[in-house]
Amino acid sequence: MSHTVLVTGGAGFIGSHLCERLLEQGDYVICLDNFFTGRRRNIAHLLNNRNFELIRHDITEPIRIEVDRIYNMACPASPVHYQANPVKTMKTSVLGTMNLLGLAKRTGARLLQASTSEVYGDPEVHPQPESYRGSVNPIGIRACYDEGKRAAETLCFDYHRMHGVDIRVIRIFNTYGPRMDPADGRVVSNFIVQALKGEDITIYGDGTQTRSFCYVDDLVNGILKFMKHEGHTGPVNLGNDGEFTVQELAQEVIRLTGSQSRVVNQPLPQDDPTRRRPDLTLARQLFDYELTAPLAEGLRRTIEYFRHL
Ligand code: NAD
Ligand code: UDP
Repeated sequence: MSHTVLVTGGAGFIGSHLCERLLEQGDYVICLDNFFTGRRRNIAHLLNNRNFELIRHDITEPIRIEVDRIYNMACPASPVHYQANPVKTMKTSVLGTMNLLGLAKRTGARLLQASTSEVYGDPEVHPQPESYRGSVNPIGIRACYDEGKRAAETLCFDYHRMHGVDIRVIRIFNTYGPRMDPADGRVVSNFIVQALKGEDITIYGDGTQTRSFCYVDDLVNGILKFMKHEGHTGPVNLGNDGEFTVQELAQEVIRLTGSQSRVVNQPLPQDDPTRRRPDLTLARQLFDYELTAPLAEGLRRTIEYFRHL
């Protein structure tokens, strides 16, 4: 069955891939974005599709449209961008999600909320299962994002309990791939851009902190499967459970690009989590979540994208 779908943050990195895949599966897609970190070029190839519509709008303001599926992807995801205006980041997560839950309540639409591994903060439990409640500093520089996303999850579950809104909450772990903004500031895009330009590769801290990097196609497969799944609200972790130190990531990018870049160390930002790896048991049980792109393969495809940019 095809749906009329709203994708907020649809001109962003993950949102644009999602719009593309929804069109492929026959849905009518309304892409909404305020273009804070999103780019028109990410969706330029979709603009002529008769099942695609673009709205410039900010989710902190209510919107009245008729849809039956909502993917709430709107929120800057890179620390550089979400810390640029932390109050706005919190408004986007809290007021924005509340507006969309209101829309879901009125229309009866199913709403998928893009939450994050950041709800686990700097985790004391490793790997992180959905039952882990996290260790977040509520007054630190990452809190506008972490606590905003935690409050957005709370709103989803309260709208679900109070008003029967049909929710799907996913916790996304570090995702990368084509259409990341080269100036986005996240580690994968930074390292690839630096390696391709022959600039110094900037490791923050000693590079022993770990992340688990997921190629965007695998994430989007999981998102689409969970949206179709009946009978579970989540939260469900989505990502890749291969865990790498930031050092290892730098070496892999250097190897795959053949770069002559040097690695330099810069100060570790405040509250930077020391490790992160998803426990994916639930996603695998619920909807056969599968991973197809190991790090080297995903990096190869992403490097190709940045080479042509
Ligand atoms: P992104 O910055 O590329 O995309 C976010 C999009 O939301 C952009 O197009 C931006 O312009 C738009 N946006 C921001 N604030 C808005 C507002 N108030 N109103 C309307 N549009 C707004 O980031 P991304 O990596 O594609 O992330 C998409 C979603 O996934 C975000 O909600 C993010 O928190 C979540 N997420 C991403 C990752 C990751 O590793 N990429 C990890 C965890 C969670
Ligand atoms: N990082 C780094 N060099 C960079 C950008 C990031 O060493 O140029 C580190 C950062 O300190 C963190 C990890 O890479 O430990 C992942 O950072 P990113 O901003 O991509 O995501 P997040 O910290 O939100 O997981």
